[in-house]
Amino acid sequence: MIDTHCHLTFPEFRRSVARVMDEARAEGTRAAITISTTTADALQARAVAHEDPRVVFTVGVHPLYADEPVDWEIFAQLARDARCVAFGEMGLDGHHAKPPLELQESVLLAQLEQVHSLWNQGVRLPLVIHCRKAVPRLLPILQASGLPADRMVFHCFTEGPDEARLVLDFGAWISFTGAATFKRADSIRAAALLVPADRVMVETDAPFLTPEPHRGIRPNAPKFVRHVAACLARVRGVDEQVLERILDDNAVRFFGPALQAACESP
Ligand SMILES: [Zn+2]
Repeated sequence: MIDTHCHLTFPEFRRSVARVMDEARAEGTRAAITISTTTADALQARAVAHEDPRVVFTVGVHPLYADEPVDWEIFAQLARDARCVAFGEMGLDGHHAKPPLELQESVLLAQLEQVHSLWNQGVRLPLVIHCRKAVPRLLPILQASGLPADRMVFHCFTEGPDEARLVLDFGAWISFTGAATFKRADSIRAAALLVPADRVMVETDAPFLTPEPHRGIRPNAPKFVRHVAACLARVRGVDEQVLERILDDNAVRFFGPALQAACESP
């Protein structure tokens, strides 16, 4: 399997990426995408991806880090790296009061402008979208960006079926984490039932959100991604192994050949 979203630059992992990925491989997770949150973090993410052939990375500014300095030149430079597979994570977080949504939004707009200009220069990487309690506010912004919706994934989806319908009608993909496995997450599971098989992905978002049946274990890790896939298989009433194959194919189709190479690396 592939863990399409985790944070291997975070203190829980930064000094133990090789071990974390060894353990992942032992449990059947072949590759992971380490997602960046700031310019400084993106530089670390690139370093991790160059140290470990099983890891690729993304470049982006997370809405909850919108008050940290951004260097758009480094952003553009990292986007051209052969191991960079996406922009993001970027978006809006209406769950946390800080930084204020207005600031989150202005950083997002600046970021989408950068992405648009890089797309025009041929750097056509997909976008990893962070959206929490902000679907109605975020969709028009993404729409106005002029970037294609089918190159965007709403990661760690924790909303219900109504919001999922809006995102799917917009044309984007949806990815699920361990949050979908939690006992009281019926509305997330109802959302998971709506997503077409060719637009769904899974991730851990490690170090956060350890899936059931391991919820008490901290930190979460890429090795646990199959429990998210197993949950979706149960919800959708499909064979677990068949779904795992579909999820992996989706991830490679969305993120591209560098991710495939990471899976096949020794
Ligand atoms: Zn994340």
